[in-house]
Amino acid sequence: MDSISPAIRHYLERLLSDLAGLDSQIVYLMMIIVVSVIVLDAISLGLRKKRQAIGLQAKTQTVSIDGSKSVPVRNYVSELQGLAGKPDALISENGFLIPIERKPLARKIHDRYVAQLLVYMRLIEEFEGKKPPYGYLILGPSCRRIRIDNTPERQRWLQGIVDEMMTILAREKTAVAAPHPRKCVKCDVQNSCNFRFKREEQVAGEIVQISRKTG
Ligand code: SF4
Repeated sequence: MDSISPAIRHYLERLLSDLAGLDSQIVYLMMIIVVSVIVLDAISLGLRKKRQAIGLQAKTQTVSIDGSKSVPVRNYVSELQGLAGKPDALISENGFLIPIERKPLARKIHDRYVAQLLVYMRLIEEFEGKKPPYGYLILGPSCRRIRIDNTPERQRWLQGIVDEMMTILAREKTAVAAPHPRKCVKCDVQNSCNFRFKREEQVAGEIVQISRKTG
């Protein structure tokens, strides 16, 4: 106790003496309050870290977030629509539930990201009873936030994709991959894949087109 200043020692002695004079039930109550504050602080710190990882601002009203126990992720499975999805997060904005999809490695928007968000918006409408007017894509390490409006045109476009998938699942149509050349070059299964991008075939096709035009 030599390193404690006299003032602090005096304070602690008084505190201990006061505590000793208190009813044991009050002491237990205080202990419960202190433990509760510590637990709540730990939960809130965990939630803050999850929010940061997903690119959400501190003041955002978070309803669900992937990996959180206090506001667990919502997994929607619709037999009615034949769709399923698990948004990375749901936030509440202007009275609506808004889905968030995080793509930490993405540099630009891809159609498949937009389609994924539109599917979430359909599922939220079915299960939560209110159609989200938009959703957010959070792209790249800098967490660039892009708003995707839930418009009838976009939903029509999505419906086209869903219809095509359904016909493929019903074996009424064969799926045809449209791979990006760079992906095929790095792909481990390219030697056994019928859809792999073949540079020589593309060159041959271009030559045929040119000769048709010039011939
Ligand atoms: S080789 Fe086949 S599986 Fe691999 S990326 Fe290309 S299309 Fe996809």
